[in-house]
Amino acid sequence: MRELNNKTLQKYLDNNLKDIETKCKNIIIKHKPKIVKFYNRYMGLFDAEKKLGHTNYTQNENVISLLNNEYRELNFEEYDEMLSLERILHDTKYIEDLEVLRCRDDLLINVREKINRYEVEFDKFHNALVKLNKRDISSSFGLFKYDEFENCKIEIYILSCFLFCKRYKIDVVKFVLTTYAHELAHAFNYLGQDKDGEKWAYDDFRDANETLIEGLAQYYAYEYAKDINISKSFDQEVLLRNQDTNRLVLSKVYREYKKYQKYGREHVYGALIYTRRNGITNFKDFRNLLEIYKKDLPSES
Ligand SMILES: [Zn+2]
Repeated sequence: MRELNNKTLQKYLDNNLKDIETKCKNIIIKHKPKIVKFYNRYMGLFDAEKKLGHTNYTQNENVISLLNNEYRELNFEEYDEMLSLERILHDTKYIEDLEVLRCRDDLLINVREKINRYEVEFDKFHNALVKLNKRDISSSFGLFKYDEFENCKIEIYILSCFLFCKRYKIDVVKFVLTTYAHELAHAFNYLGQDKDGEKWAYDDFRDANETLIEGLAQYYAYEYAKDINISKSFDQEVLLRNQDTNRLVLSKVYREYKKYQKYGREHVYGALIYTRRNGITNFKDFRNLLEIYKKDLPSES
């Protein structure tokens, strides 16, 4: 990683990020064969993983530039300390002295104010990141890079995931795993071959509406999350709200998969294969296909 100008933050990351990075990489290695099997089965698409290069663990350059410039004062170490202090103060078992107990409430207000100030700063930072990454914050977490020659690669940005999860108190290892499952779903959608050896044509995939592309990736990542019992945290992540503005943190396209939940996996499969073969690019057409497949193939359950 490129050295940050903010030495306090650099030290904090040196102390905290290495261990998390190892855990994230290990969980991806462990789950990759299971996700591949799962996508083979439910997407009916094969061999995508063979065409993919190694997963690249790298940085989103926008994060580094923000941390080095406008947000060079961000202090996650103090934030952590304030959170611990707040936790301790809430727990009266540590406080025997009545005098101290009286001061506690004042102190708690003080600590809370400080935490709020940090969170406002972190939110500003994440919003600035969204703007820089133009489309949405989730492209700061990971990316599926592709071209017409099938030089494809998944990139995972652990630092961005870590900073985001710290702010919103999310389990970063699970978050990185579902991010990876999301990117791998893109890879399968584009590179995978269906049972007749058909692919999604490059131009059609490139021109497909963002809601359609992200909806599908989220859908399959979510189905996998269900399979390994972490769908609850997946749902919480996409429904995160900023407490100050009450606005949802992630954009609408990342919640499109919710609309697919009333269909069976076989309906989504049917619609996906049809979409790939016929160059469907609009999410509304995809939704119509889901209805058609549902009528044609009533679910057993
Ligand atoms: Zn995506």
